Amino acid sequence: MTTSYSAYPELLARLRRIHVLGTLTGVLGWDEQVNLPPGAAARRGEQLSLLAELTHAEATAPALGAALANCEAAGLAGEVALVVAAARRDYDRAVKLPVELVAEKARLSSEAYHAWAAARAARDFPAFAPFLEKHLALARREAELLGYGGRPYDLAIDRHDPGLDAVRVGALFAELRAGLVPLVRRIDARVQLRGERPVALRGFDIEAQRRVARMVTARLGFDYDRGRLDVSLHPFCEGTGDDVRLTTRFDPDNPLDSLYSSIHEAGHGLYEQGLPSVHAGTALGVAAGLAVHESQSRLWENQVARSRAFWTWLEPEYRAAFSGSLAGVTADALHAAVNEVAPGGLIRVDADEVHYNLHILLRFELEKRLFAGDLAVADLPQAWDDLSGELLGRRPAHAGEGVLQDVHWSGGAFGYFPSYALGNMIAAQLWGAARAALPGLEHDFARGEFGRLLGWLRGTVHAQGRREDAFALTRRATGAELGAGALLEYLNERYGREVG
Ligand code: ZN
Repeated sequence: MTTSYSAYPELLARLRRIHVLGTLTGVLGWDEQVNLPPGAAARRGEQLSLLAELTHAEATAPALGAALANCEAAGLAGEVALVVAAARRDYDRAVKLPVELVAEKARLSSEAYHAWAAARAARDFPAFAPFLEKHLALARREAELLGYGGRPYDLAIDRHDPGLDAVRVGALFAELRAGLVPLVRRIDARVQLRGERPVALRGFDIEAQRRVARMVTARLGFDYDRGRLDVSLHPFCEGTGDDVRLTTRFDPDNPLDSLYSSIHEAGHGLYEQGLPSVHAGTALGVAAGLAVHESQSRLWENQVARSRAFWTWLEPEYRAAFSGSLAGVTADALHAAVNEVAPGGLIRVDADEVHYNLHILLRFELEKRLFAGDLAVADLPQAWDDLSGELLGRRPAHAGEGVLQDVHWSGGAFGYFPSYALGNMIAAQLWGAARAALPGLEHDFARGEFGRLLGWLRGTVHAQGRREDAFALTRRATGAELGAGALLEYLNERYGREVG
């Protein structure tokens, strides 16, 4: 009979193997988007599919089940019990899903991705609809198998944010919508009344943009001995601990895009670099969930890097880096470009922070209706356009700028969108708590110093791993319940004040 003394190390060793396989998958996935020759796509698909098979085998290994049972029998307490409980949850989910279903979902996601890309280019929703139907059917089957029968959308949300469900998210979003819609209308009216267009920033040298992105992210605290910055079509962050990879993209006529996507991804990267790597592979060594993850990227991107204090520091360096390109652009004009608000935008990924959350409210509402069976896939474009008119004040002219704009559904990633808005809410609350705990924080920024804020986030959020869900983490870190109030206040303070 195995004792608790050997059962727990055995469990840790098995979790470590799953973690290492995950890092291999991550590096290959990163490489696919950053380096892969186009002709190697099929080979990469084969490599990733074999790795998925091996990972599933490790995650469902009877020896893992035995190690878990032995740990549970030993009555372990404290953090060890937390690790065991999280591993039990993952194990039970993995063994309840037949390997055929896992393979079917992977195959469908690959086919659906290509179908989506073609359908989006052709603005042809009916060409994508059958794939969406199949993904929804799979999600329902998964929910049945995992004990979420009758509430498949809860599973979809919980998968990205443990502890959250549609009712709790719905209540938060109702609060957000009630405050946000009138605030956005006021800000839109002011912007339209003034009719000002932000200054055009053109001809920014790519190499200089790369140096600035690297310099700024390093200054925020991103450790380049344990990370990289590369280029991909869509910016992302991959990896954890000692190997965290950020990507951005460069456009000579849109230098703020590369800067802010680099800062955003560095916010994710700082979280991953700050997780306690001795606990890698366990609940103590992973992020609390997608919403908290997004709170880190948004806090650095928005609250910090769009502030006047941040630009007090960066502006001279920024001007020096792009000799000539900023001639004639005043400090005020530059700051206005950084904080541009564009009413009527239909594309989520291009949205400013005032409008962004409206795009998320729209997607949450439609996903909820789809999963409840209140909305048929065939009627989705109409529902999207109606809601777009209601929330964003404009209806898309075609599916490419409407229902087909996002990649998520092609991968069956339902329940993912809410984490973006929840992340914004958590970021605003953390920002308030950090400012209260660290007087004079903006003076730090004005000198290009970010160590006090990073140190606070490291202790308050990063070092905690997955000890708490988003609600408990927010409550402990900020002393208040997760809600929309701090975000609405922040948006009003930064964008709404001048309303007369
Ligand atoms: Zn993000």
